[in-house]
Amino acid sequence: MAIKDRQLPNPGGYFGQFGGKFVPETLIPALNELEQAYAKASTDSGFQQQFQQLCREYIGRPTPLYPAQQLSAKIGGATILLKREDLAHTGAHKINNALGQGLLAKYMGKTRIIAETGAGQHGVAVATVCAMLSLDCIIYMGEEDIKRQSSNVLRIKLLGAEVRPVASGSRTLKDAITETIRDWVTNVHNTYYLLGSVVGPHPYPMIVRNFQSVIGQETKEQVMAMYHRLPDYLIACVGGGSNAIGLFHPFFNDKSVKLIGVEAAGQGLESNQHSASITAGKVGVLHGTKSHLLQDKHGQIMPTHSIAPGLDYPGVGPEHSYYADIGRATYVAVIDSQALEGFRLLCSTEGIIPALEPAHAIYYAAKLAADLPQEQLIVINLSGRGDKDLDIVAEAIGMES
Ligand SMILES: *Cc1c(COP(=O)(O)O)cnc(C)c1O
Repeated sequence: MAIKDRQLPNPGGYFGQFGGKFVPETLIPALNELEQAYAKASTDSGFQQQFQQLCREYIGRPTPLYPAQQLSAKIGGATILLKREDLAHTGAHKINNALGQGLLAKYMGKTRIIAETGAGQHGVAVATVCAMLSLDCIIYMGEEDIKRQSSNVLRIKLLGAEVRPVASGSRTLKDAITETIRDWVTNVHNTYYLLGSVVGPHPYPMIVRNFQSVIGQETKEQVMAMYHRLPDYLIACVGGGSNAIGLFHPFFNDKSVKLIGVEAAGQGLESNQHSASITAGKVGVLHGTKSHLLQDKHGQIMPTHSIAPGLDYPGVGPEHSYYADIGRATYVAVIDSQALEGFRLLCSTEGIIPALEPAHAIYYAAKLAADLPQEQLIVINLSGRGDKDLDIVAEAIGMES
């Protein structure tokens, strides 16, 4: 990757006015240690080679860039290509970051990994990598989420990790985050906190973005090899924002490439039952970083909703807030029923069952493609496969599972 691509964030961890390190004093040494270790690892050819080799041999990279001819024909407009992160080991893009940070933890001499998970997908990715790298693994999870996500809890346990139930507060993700940070402060000498998206205090948004940028780097090479030119649109769903920034970032300086992030409008933006942080939120500080958030007029974080478990988060990565601010990317929102339409469209045209998160991007891309000529190239990041969501879909469309 060219040096100029790495200019963001600035040394303080800011993307324009967004990002930073809004944490208690006790966490600063741990973040500084991480930042220094990452700087060293990212210029260490041995470390980079190990990451690339495991991307190839363990994750199965490069993932294909698939020209979705049946989908494109059905819509009758632009040419749609799918970046097949659903074919990565464990069925989603989260493994790219879990692997990168797992290797970084080892590089730092840490033996114990902690992470928090809401829907359980990040917990599964972390437990997977920890099994393979022989690292102790503890996953904090709210008691409510443990009840709702029993199959992921089972996966995490089968992979040899411990699930620690969190009984405080609303017993969901934000309480699990609090417990994970408490553990990290106490055990930082041997413990690595493995964050799951491009959120949190600096340097996490930068580290996670760089490990996920393998998606955009491969996409660029693949489109160039197939069409001898850059794509016209990149479209990805945005929860915390890691799969989207991983696709977008390597194209940041390619100004002809339009970037579109699709947020979850849930039951509608007027309903207060959504997760559209950029489209409908305000700037504030959450979990150590300054970005767009869903908050009420008193600054309280609002409850969120999305049919896609991975999009159900009240904040978003600071780099997305910056891209929105400077107009480099556009952010739109798609409601639950539209995401289900996108889901069914891909199932029936291409024989691919997508996760509900990228189903949001599929719906938006299909609408956009209809009004464009065939020569226009649209890449959708198919961030994960849909097996995990079958119960939700069955209930939503009233079909027996
Ligand atoms: C977790 C998840 C997401 C949302 O996370 P980002 O950090 O926004 O990428 C999207 N798609 C899938 C399949 C996921 O598992």
